[in-house]
Amino acid sequence: MTRRPFNFSAGPAALPEEVLQQVAREMLDWHGSGMSVMEMSHRGKEFIAICEQAEADLRELLAVPSHFRILFMQGGGLAENAIVPLNLSRGGQVDFVVTGSWSRKSAQEARRYADVHIAADASLSGAGAIPSPASWTLRPGTSYVHLCSNETIDGLEFHALPDLRALGCDAPLVIDFSSHVLSRPVDWSRVGLAFGGAQKNIGPAGLTLVIVREDLLGRALPICPSAFDYKTVAEAQSMYNTPPTFSIYVAGLVFQWLKRFEYGGQRGLAAIEQRNLDKATLLYDALDRSAVFENRVARECRSRMNVPFFLRGAHDTPALHQAFLDEARDRQLLQLKGHKSVGGMRASIYNAMSLDGVHALVDFLKDFETRHG
Ligand SMILES: *Cc1c(COP(=O)(O)O)cnc(C)c1O
Repeated sequence: MTRRPFNFSAGPAALPEEVLQQVAREMLDWHGSGMSVMEMSHRGKEFIAICEQAEADLRELLAVPSHFRILFMQGGGLAENAIVPLNLSRGGQVDFVVTGSWSRKSAQEARRYADVHIAADASLSGAGAIPSPASWTLRPGTSYVHLCSNETIDGLEFHALPDLRALGCDAPLVIDFSSHVLSRPVDWSRVGLAFGGAQKNIGPAGLTLVIVREDLLGRALPICPSAFDYKTVAEAQSMYNTPPTFSIYVAGLVFQWLKRFEYGGQRGLAAIEQRNLDKATLLYDALDRSAVFENRVARECRSRMNVPFFLRGAHDTPALHQAFLDEARDRQLLQLKGHKSVGGMRASIYNAMSLDGVHALVDFLKDFETRHG
């Protein structure tokens, strides 16, 4: 088979080729069961084994402590924007740290269920930087504090999670880690709940991951749908209703791929984190040295996963932008168009993107600059 194109989609995004090949091999007959995973009862022993293995592998990879529950849900990040306040707000105060499009959207949705306060807003403090936690105006009575730990559209990432207790706040921290889950470790001592859709860095769309501290279960508002009540879902081992079985299966294969992943003398999450760092450094260095392209995010909060970039100054014309995308596609570099709300270009370089893929992109950036700069 010839090499597949490099796919820089923000999501649904590229999956490891090895995993896709394994899915293909097992498509018609999973481990001699005579069934595709798609055709299995979610309550049968085959699927229960798949699901338990996926959960155990995820717990190991992300070092999730035993007082956290792992829930496999549906509805994506956008549904969680409602499900979190339904479960944790008690109809009272919730504080949001807005660093880009996704956290802004989360705050907007929560207003339907809770008294929302914007404790910090990156767009007010000059573009492209995360306001220092010391400047956040957290309220004493807040039920939780929400932030998006990697802003997929704006390309901002928290490289350390805030210590709310050090800021005088006892409330749990909720993080939307949709677009960088499993790209690096999580400091669970600072987190009450983390959620994310699978389609960026885990597997196929349809699965939503929720990791929640046990003491936060059982607080849902009466209007919360049962299928979205974390306590109900936890008690039913994520099988209160039919879970997204095929997505869980593929996610499980991705977890196994990550566990055996080797790079730079390391293995597992440490190895993938190192490769992610190397990929991001390679790409940002090329952009910073370019006379034609630029990234506009402050260095200390640049995302390792999503790299928005723009044509500089006089180069920023619709014709050159289109030429870039057309030539990229001809070179098998796919889905580099920026999100429509910000324009420009964006390279999403999730776990499944190889170093070769980023080298190919950087070579193209240099070549494009030679011809059009
Ligand atoms: C993609 C994304 C979402 C939305 O996810 P859906 O699955 O489409 O609901 C939410 N938050 C972040 C950070 C995202 O990247």
